[in-house]
This record gives sequence, structure tokens and C-alpha cells, in this order.
Amino acid sequence: MVARIIPVPSFDLTVFGGTGDLARRKLIPALYRRMRDGQAPRDARILAAARSDLDDAGFRAMAREALEEHVPAAERPAEDMDAFLAMLGYVKVDAMGTEGWDALAERLADQPDRPRAFYLSVAPSLFGPIAERIAGAGLGGPNTRIVVEKPLGRDLEGARALNAQLAEHFDESQLYRIDHYLGKETVQNLMAIRFANALFEPVWNARHIDHVQITVAESLGVGGRGEYYDRSGAMRDMVQNHLMQLLCLTAMEPPNMFDPDAVRDEKLKVIRALDPIGPGHIGTDTVRGQYRGGPLGPSYVEDAGDPDSHTECFVALKAEISNWRWAGAPFYLRTGKRLRARMSEIAIQFKAPPHSIFEGETCHGNTLVIRLQPDEGITLKMTVKDPGPGGMRLIETPLDMTFAKALEGRGVSMPDAYERLIMDVIRGDQTLFMRGDEVEAAWAWVDPIIAAWEHSGAHPQPYDSGGSGPEDALMLMHRDGRRWREIA
Ligand code: NAP
Repeated sequence: MVARIIPVPSFDLTVFGGTGDLARRKLIPALYRRMRDGQAPRDARILAAARSDLDDAGFRAMAREALEEHVPAAERPAEDMDAFLAMLGYVKVDAMGTEGWDALAERLADQPDRPRAFYLSVAPSLFGPIAERIAGAGLGGPNTRIVVEKPLGRDLEGARALNAQLAEHFDESQLYRIDHYLGKETVQNLMAIRFANALFEPVWNARHIDHVQITVAESLGVGGRGEYYDRSGAMRDMVQNHLMQLLCLTAMEPPNMFDPDAVRDEKLKVIRALDPIGPGHIGTDTVRGQYRGGPLGPSYVEDAGDPDSHTECFVALKAEISNWRWAGAPFYLRTGKRLRARMSEIAIQFKAPPHSIFEGETCHGNTLVIRLQPDEGITLKMTVKDPGPGGMRLIETPLDMTFAKALEGRGVSMPDAYERLIMDVIRGDQTLFMRGDEVEAAWAWVDPIIAAWEHSGAHPQPYDSGGSGPEDALMLMHRDGRRWREIA
């Protein structure tokens, strides 16, 4: 069986910042792959807009280089490369000024009825000015969609201001706030597993689940981005968006249908049900860390260029959801840089059977692991009989569903998250995008934690590069009689 490709209509996509890092590494390769698979029609137009002095040919040469760097040679036959590069164009536009806007409007004028998307792959300070100028140039019709990506503010106030700027010119139904974690196959599969199978939902609650662990571990440090990163930190960069989105999808009630607002309403209810972590709890329920220097590279503070930096590049915290489904089953979140491995997963730890009938054998709780990276897939750890005549001995064994293996030989590869998300923008499907109120609610939960850290004046705890984070992060779970899964 080969996955069905449902083509999207012909579209015009303008990428502001089309010459930047995100465009070159992710967006251009994603669009190329969608065209090559027959999903994006070959008469779609993709325009890059930036200040650099380029023309169509110059941008095509840049895009060719990007594809050569980020797409394997076997996936780049000349015919497909030529067809894709012919779809590209460049308009010199200054987001903060007047230059280029008439030219952009002229380039798009002959196809007023197509879905018209503007991907704002630029610094967030440009989102407002660009939105204003898109509308001012007469490009803001009902088929216009605006795509933005994190950072969506650096606190609640900033997020509100940004939402207000965008709302001045566009309706919420035209705004696509990307969290690329939601474009991952496994994350969507979490919803399929929960809501398309009758098996899990009856046990998806604190009566049967002991706790949930969400880990997003990175093996690299902040490197050359240190100074930039030091202005945000792990809470703002990872927890407020990616980890909270994963928490929401794991914890939300079944929406009545897989529809943008139904799904986002349920996610919002989860965020609003999170117990606040105030000054009285930051010492017990949160841990911050900074990696030490060593064979893997300089320390965090050296990378950040500030020996007195108080910014965390590691966070572990215990989140409690006060509702009937989850009261008593905490969610432990952890993310950090320069850890033992690059690994992201959601692990649902079920309770152990209440009584073992097998003498001398312990029955452990099942663990359902949704792995985002590497090797996207889902594993259910089960207890079974150790095969052979040696009596009734029990062992734990995983039921493994690694998607790459499952898809092998079927002519289907794992799509990058951006491939799925950009096609959803063109289709006009907002289900996997964050709504403005969700983003604000997430900041409203995170802000007091950051404020309490700042108020305490304490330094994040140092941890060894290549390890599992600070000792106190282990204690955060040990105190509750639980332990983190290994970062591997
Ligand atoms: P980048 O490499 O610095 O690229 C910025 C782009 O914006 C360049 O194409 C630049 O081109 C253009 N630009 C800057 N000022 C402009 C202006 N006044 N008018 C028009 N164009 C202008 O940044 P990036 O890494 O691609 O990131 C873009 C956005 O995505 C940022 O908000 C970032 O936080 C977010 N993001 C990036 C990543 C990633 O992996 N890179 C991941 C998640 C989110 P000119 O200089 O030629 O104008």
C-alpha cells in the first residue's frame, strides 16, 4: 500500500526571509519534496522576498545550492530540479519600508483567486510591519494566509501585542502559528492512537496511568547561537511551545471532531487546568541547569559569552493538571542542551497490576512510548512469559512500531514536519496550528515560573556535558518514588 497523495490546489506562496537559514534548510527542501511527490502542483509559484540584491536567477541558484545541501542526490533528478526551480522567483522587498511592495503585488496580481500564503520566516519584530504592508498592498483578501513561527512573544504581554498586531489586519482564521512538533507524524499518530482505537481511551486517566514523562533532549550545546539563546533560555525556547503542545495532545479530552477549533478548544482547556507553579513551589517542582565545559566543548556560560548568565539551558518540572482525568497523575517535563543523546519522546507510564499471581515475579506497569526522534515510532512495553520450559518467569518486551521500518518497501518516506504543515496552510486546515489564545494561555502559565526564578536570584545548577542533567532533576522524580527514563 502506498500513502495517498492528495494534491493541493495551485497556490502562490511568498516567503519573507526566503534567503534565510530556515528557508534554505527546511522550507525550500519541503516544498521541493511536495512538488516531487505530486502534491504541490507544478504551476504553483513560490516567491522569496528579502532585501538582498537578487533576481529570479540569483534566487534559483541559491535554492539549487540549498537543495544540493539538504536533499540526497538520489532524490534530485535533473528533470524534477528544473521543474521546481522554474516555480521560484524573487522580489526585493524591505519589510520595514516601501521598497518592493508594488512589485510584489504586481507579481501576484494575475492569480487573485488562488490560495495566497505569506510565510514570515523573519525576525518576529517584522511580523507586524509585514502584516500591515501585505494588507496595505491590497494582498490581504479572504484567500490570504499568514504563517508565523516561534518565538511568538517572550512573555504574555509580548504575545498579546503580537496577536493584536496581526489581528489588526487579519482574521484569526487566516493566521497559521507553526509549532513544527505538531507536524511530526508521530505526534499526529498520538491522536490517531488515542481517538481511533477503543483500546486506550478507557485507561487514559489517573486511575490507570501513574505519570507521564515528556523529554526533548539535545546532544548539542548552544554553540555559536549562545548570545542569542541566552536572551531566551529553555523555558521560553522549548517548554512554552513544544513541550506544552505535546502535553496538551497527550492530556486533552477527545474533541467531538478532528476540526481546528474543536481540537484547539480542548488543548486550551488543558493549559487552563494546569496548576500554577508559584514562588512556593519553584524549589520543589522545577529545576534549571547549565552544562559544564569538558571534552564536548565549552561550558554554557562560555558559549553564552556571559560568565554570570542566569539563563537556563536545561529545565525539568512537574506539572499537575487539575481535572477529573488527570488529578494525581503528574506530567514531568524535561528538556536540555548537551545531554547524553538527541532524543524526544512522550512516555505514558501505566500503573502496575494491583496483585501478582506469579510467585516471586514482579509485574511492572506498561509503558507506551511515543518517540519523536530519532526513529519516529511507537512502542508499548508489555510483560510476557520468558519463552522456554523454565517455569513461569516474566520478562518485559517492547511491541515496536518504528514507522520508517513499517513504511520500508512501500514507496513512502517519513515526511518532514514542514512538508505536512505547509500543505495544510495551502489547504486552509488550521488543526495543527496554534490559536492565539492557546499561545497566550501557555505564556500565562510559564511567566510566573520565570518571574519566580528571576526573583530568587539563584543560578541554574551546573551539569556534566553528555549526561542527564543536574542531580536535582533526578531528585524531582525520586522524591515521588519515580525515575526518569534513560536519555539514549
Ligand atoms: P535568518 O537566517 O537571519 O534570515 C532572516 C531573513 O530575513 C533573511 O532572508 C533576511 O534577508 C530577511 N530579512 C531581514 N530583514 C528584512 C527586512 N527588513 N525586509 C525583508 N527581509 C528581511 O533567520 P532564520 O534562522 O531563517 O529565522 C527566521 C525566523 O524563523 C526567525 O523568527 C526565527 O526565530 C524563526 N525560526 C528559525 C528556525 C531555524 O531553524 N532557523 C527555527 C524555528 C524558528 P535580507 O537580509 O536579504 O533582507
